[in-house]
Amino acid sequence: MGPGPSDVNPRVLSALGRPTIGHLDPQFFMLMDEVKSLLQYAFKTKNDLTIPISAPGSAGMEACFVNLVEPGDKVVVCSNGVFGGRMAENVRRVGGQLILLEEEWGKPVNPEKLDALLSKNPDVSIVAFVHAETSTGVRSDAEHLCRIAKNYDCLVILDCVTSLGGIEVSLDEWKVDAAYSGSQKCLSCVPGLSPLSFSDAALKKLKNRKSPVNSWFLDLNLITDYWSGSEKRSYHHTAPVNSIYGLHEALIILKEEGLERSWDRHRQNHVLLRDHLEGIGLRFIVDEPYRLPQLNAVSIPDSVDEQAIRKSLLNDFDLEIGAGLGSLAGKIWRIGLMGYASNNGNVLYCVNALKEALSKNS
Ligand SMILES: *Cc1c(COP(=O)(O)O)cnc(C)c1O
Repeated sequence: MGPGPSDVNPRVLSALGRPTIGHLDPQFFMLMDEVKSLLQYAFKTKNDLTIPISAPGSAGMEACFVNLVEPGDKVVVCSNGVFGGRMAENVRRVGGQLILLEEEWGKPVNPEKLDALLSKNPDVSIVAFVHAETSTGVRSDAEHLCRIAKNYDCLVILDCVTSLGGIEVSLDEWKVDAAYSGSQKCLSCVPGLSPLSFSDAALKKLKNRKSPVNSWFLDLNLITDYWSGSEKRSYHHTAPVNSIYGLHEALIILKEEGLERSWDRHRQNHVLLRDHLEGIGLRFIVDEPYRLPQLNAVSIPDSVDEQAIRKSLLNDFDLEIGAGLGSLAGKIWRIGLMGYASNNGNVLYCVNALKEALSKNS
């Protein structure tokens, strides 16, 4: 019950163990096509370029920046936590001109500040932000932020690593141009794959680049030759065949439940956890309307040895919760209720374990 990887559904574990067939086998191509359409369902998009990158969420992030940002492009990164900071670092490394819009950790990105910044900088071409900031448990209003970016004709890059499957993500409705996620958070698959989706506008920017993409492995021009629906798919890299079996199964499970019902389940289990945690005097660090149901960040009471508690949870209860990152290290715990792990039994188990650990260690 940390910030990911979440518990993997046993159905996904058994899919991983199917015999490995060739990455150019016609049957595997059929499975790839199903994965694409299941990902379109999960992301709520008709984008043709909707595929898993063969590497973890960080590679999906890097794929967006290395394909879309050309040297000299002005890019606004709205940063309110660890992952926004990584987006900014990506812009620097691909030679973009970074304009950083920083927000206090634990607060959502402020739409008015983005509007003001874009009106002062009419030559910005890309806006990037994290939908669900896993380092603090805060949700930014992606729909509103996209609307502002679109008013200034900017492309939007959206990090959906922790949001996909846990709260609403609607790429087409919100007009997101490039989005990436991760297999191991609310999709409850094994780590190591990054679902990614590019709009037509993003593809156009990619096709019109003046310089080649500064990464061979992540160049989407090459990757799409392998993932495109046509007959003449060609070898790019050896796809992680079994991991893709796993993702396929995880997405089928999500579709069987239905997106709305999955979001509902995440919210209900969050409410149950919230009530219990507040009942033992723990306080959330994020204001109510912006809390992520899948990542619950609470302050650690002054008198508590936080490491001893996490050690006791792990050793005595076989339970992992997350520590704080960066400036929040030692100050908060992060309790994940992601995907398959978001259930009533886990909530009660965690609360009881925490109560016992707290009473033993105080
Ligand atoms: C976990 C996470 C990532 C990175 O994903 P990895 O699979 O660990 O590379 C990026 N962004 C956010 C918001 C995340 O929670």
